[in-house]
Amino acid sequence: MTEIHTIGVIGAGTMGNGVAHVFARSGFPVVLCDIEQPFLDRGLDTIRKNLAREAEKKKITPAEADAALARVQPTLHRHALAGCGFIVEAATERFEIKKEIFQELDSIVGPEVILATNTSSISITRLAAQTGRPDRVIGMHFFNPVPVMKLVEIIRGLATSQPTFDTVKSLADKLGKTPVEVNDAPGFVSNRVLMPLLNEAMYAVMEGVATAEAVDEVFRLGMAHPMGPLTLADFIGLDVCLDIMRVLHEGLGDPKYRPCPLLIRMVDAGWLGRKSGRGFYTYGP
Ligand code: NAD
Repeated sequence: MTEIHTIGVIGAGTMGNGVAHVFARSGFPVVLCDIEQPFLDRGLDTIRKNLAREAEKKKITPAEADAALARVQPTLHRHALAGCGFIVEAATERFEIKKEIFQELDSIVGPEVILATNTSSISITRLAAQTGRPDRVIGMHFFNPVPVMKLVEIIRGLATSQPTFDTVKSLADKLGKTPVEVNDAPGFVSNRVLMPLLNEAMYAVMEGVATAEAVDEVFRLGMAHPMGPLTLADFIGLDVCLDIMRVLHEGLGDPKYRPCPLLIRMVDAGWLGRKSGRGFYTYGP
């Protein structure tokens, strides 16, 4: 198994800053890459706040929080990832964006480096085929909020090798996460099952079966879900939910995965959930 030193993370958004956080907290130097300075600034700010919160809760000491933050090196230049031993891509959930990233990474980093993607739904096999190292491409699917959630789905593409799988499983262990092995299929396990539930909850609201509050209450009180499906959809991001439904619909070809028209309208309006201040609920600054 390859010993890994520096970690590269592409995308400093909701997931990318969380992934950078957990690697840095576990002692790995991290190079965090995004396309615009404000995205990097916001990502680093979130890492700083979340580390401070962990220190307040005495999960880590203030010195450990400072040291973890100092291990994160932000950059706008993908070439800064050249020295990394392992890369996790957590950019926007669009195949064309990820394709371009994988193609470029393939030419920047050494041939032994494993390229992982945090995609929620895009085929690992298809992304791997954009590179000259399909045996070293794998899905490493973290859950939001990354510093808190224990699960990591590790997804094998058709060509993913056993040493690649073993290396990523061992990295997940080092982060204190619980890896679960999954094969490559649209939405893997988590989103194949979760997203149709959220989508159906949106249909219930759209058709006037119940309000968003009532749907959420049914799930919290009746099914002991910690968060109702519409609160969860707002938390994940309605644009992310829509992208995943489209991948399920296209990839599985079954009309039962048709994205809810209300979801499409809300995304068109820029109501993306918590991150935009409005989704099924409204949120303060
Ligand atoms: P986000 O919109 O919060 O962040 C995406 C970031 O990627 C943005 O900062 C954007 O500027 C950056 N980006 C876009 N194109 C880029 C490029 N070419 N190079 C570098 N950076 C680029 O999205 P997110 O919620 O963090 O999702 C990121 C990935 O994680 C997606 O694949 C998504 O499916 C997956 N994911 C999301 C969740 C969730 O709950 N939000 C959970 C698990 C997995």
